[in-house]
Amino acid sequence: MLPPGVPASKTAQKSAPLKETAEDQAAPQPRFEKAPAKSPAQKALEKLGLRRDIDLALHLPLRYEDETRIVRLSEAQNGDVVQIEGQVIHSEITLSPRRQLRVTVDDGSDTCVLRFLHFYPSHQKALSVGAQVRVRGEIRGGFAGREMVHPSFKAAGGALPGALTPIYPTVAGLPQAYLRKAVLGGLSRADLSETIPSQFLTKNMAESLWSLREALQFLHHPTPAVALDTLEDRSHPAWQRLKAEELLAQQLSQLQARRVRAAMRAPPLAGLAMRGTQCTLQEQLLERLPFRLTAAQQRVCAEIETDLQKSIPMHRLLQGDVGAGKTVVAALAAARCMDAGWQCALMAPTEILAEQHFRKLISWLEPLGITTAWLTGSQKAKERREMLALIESGEAGLVIGTHAVIQDKVKFKNLALAIIDEQHRFGVAQRLALRSKMTDDGHEPHLLMMTATPIPRTLAMSYYADLDVSTLDELPPGRTPIVTKVVGEARRDEVIERIRGQIAEGRQIYWVCPLIEESESIDLVNATQTHEALSAALPGVMVGLLHSRMPVAEKKVVMSLFADGLMAVLVSTTVIEVGVDIPNASLMVIEHAERFGLSQLHQLRGRVGRGAAASACVLLYSTGEAPRLGETARARLKAMVETNDGFEIARRDLEIRGPGEFLGARQSGAPLLRFADLATDAVLLAWARELAPVLLTQHAELAHRHVLRWLGGKAEYLKA
Ligand code: ADP
Ligand code: MG
Repeated sequence: MLPPGVPASKTAQKSAPLKETAEDQAAPQPRFEKAPAKSPAQKALEKLGLRRDIDLALHLPLRYEDETRIVRLSEAQNGDVVQIEGQVIHSEITLSPRRQLRVTVDDGSDTCVLRFLHFYPSHQKALSVGAQVRVRGEIRGGFAGREMVHPSFKAAGGALPGALTPIYPTVAGLPQAYLRKAVLGGLSRADLSETIPSQFLTKNMAESLWSLREALQFLHHPTPAVALDTLEDRSHPAWQRLKAEELLAQQLSQLQARRVRAAMRAPPLAGLAMRGTQCTLQEQLLERLPFRLTAAQQRVCAEIETDLQKSIPMHRLLQGDVGAGKTVVAALAAARCMDAGWQCALMAPTEILAEQHFRKLISWLEPLGITTAWLTGSQKAKERREMLALIESGEAGLVIGTHAVIQDKVKFKNLALAIIDEQHRFGVAQRLALRSKMTDDGHEPHLLMMTATPIPRTLAMSYYADLDVSTLDELPPGRTPIVTKVVGEARRDEVIERIRGQIAEGRQIYWVCPLIEESESIDLVNATQTHEALSAALPGVMVGLLHSRMPVAEKKVVMSLFADGLMAVLVSTTVIEVGVDIPNASLMVIEHAERFGLSQLHQLRGRVGRGAAASACVLLYSTGEAPRLGETARARLKAMVETNDGFEIARRDLEIRGPGEFLGARQSGAPLLRFADLATDAVLLAWARELAPVLLTQHAELAHRHVLRWLGGKAEYLKA
């Protein structure tokens, strides 16, 4: 029988109580020659993306442990992580409060108890009375004097290392000791020759950058004399070099992507091939709109028009807060495309969103004689075949759908404009696939990406060298601001009372329950219970339920009941599919609001406040077992109350999460910045921006090597 919490694998049995010490002894040698079968640790290395020697060399420590010194117990403070050496003077297994091994060590200055809740006879033996041991762990003030819980230990007397011990980011199945050896090997074999000519290694007049080799060797094995805080906050010159390198790689690859794109051709969408001198589709559409474009919409449309008339493919991100009116901008771009005699495709991340676009766009465009094709994973084979034929023959000028649009079977006659809604929900590969739908080689369609999660301006300007950004910074007129309240779980009844009031006024309500990815069943229980409770509390009111595991057809029924105003309250788990436009909805309740990210909360809130009625958002939070909300959750909820502005929200999100995460693959498709921080490394970023074009033109070979070193195969992705 294994003690609780100890995995049943053999290495784990050996190493569980000893942590790194045991791994040092038990870890297999890393092997990088052609091994017949991959060990779990090798697979774990690959999972971390550590394939090449240089990848290993660039895998930098999270933190360090100081094993270079032995500390006297009398000089150690509680809370210090220290290494001591002494003699075991007592050892026993006690049974209360639970079974544990308690060992007392005396180092001549004081004593300390070592406690092990999981242990094996071998540990007991190694720590028997009289043994001289070297122990490392955190000193705590325990119930019966000072103690260390689960310290690592080994026999006393071995040589002390000359450098701090690096602790690397790792994953399950990859022991530190194995990783450490692998990194060391990578570091010694990797080509670390300079890619930045020395005249550029001056960041400013006062400071010059270390060489890459120096910096890496130092970061993997810093001397104990280093001020640890300069490693922690990454202000140390060695870190500066690494961050400069990384930013330069980003800037270079973006520039390269831009140049590649500039060499591609796209059809200039200027002429009126189809319509001759008649009024253009675009003009007719504008005339038929039930509203006037805002100044921001007009400006953005003009920016897009200018791009579309060029024979270089457009690569533009349209960002605008939820409800800012991006759809009509997309429709006008599509109309321009069809005016010129080409096809346009619009892809949305979910079926409900796609269908909503479909309905809106056909209501605008079909009266103008446009045939629109509809593609989704759930449609019947016969319908699908008809649609594919319409697309291939070119009869359908506009194609709207989900991921189904990029399937191999879909052949366009002449695609010239691809529009992607909520672009951050698509993977890079999917965006590339859509662009490859253009039939001609060497040609690409124009690409318009839309997002309601704005990239803060500073980021957009500095980081996305290969992206043009248009911004809708104005909401259509007549909206009343949404009032947001943070309410504790205990006041649920008041919220329900409020719902009654809204229903009495003929309004509709969203109630969103969180999506916990790892446990869909819990979500379901949560949402189902809420649905039942609300149905019981609101007799005579239609309360609907929408969750991720419902069949699409059923979802559609629920959505249309809600859209038609027959259903007053919609309880939903499927956060993503709430991206709908129902102006009569005036109250959004978000349950367990503390579990959502800031941008997500803002997106959800944007589902209300679309009509003229005053709207509100209630953030219901629950602290669960914990006595109070975590700091991050509190900061998020506070930001929600304080501002309705999507850009301000994005700025705060950046503050709370840091740009690394903001730029995470899921958000933007751009590879994560691992080391640099755009907020604090502005000087380095400026340096990299300036250097990139120079390097690319004057030292193309070095530039190429630099990008390859940092991005390897991932550089391809930057084109998307
Ligand atoms: P989002 O940017 O979130 O995709 P939508 O395109 O769905 O926003 O627009 C939100 C709502 O505002 C829709 O009902 C749309 O018809 C309406 N709308 C868009 N532009 C204007 C405008 N200029 N004046 C009034 N209403 C508008
Ligand atoms: Mg939209």
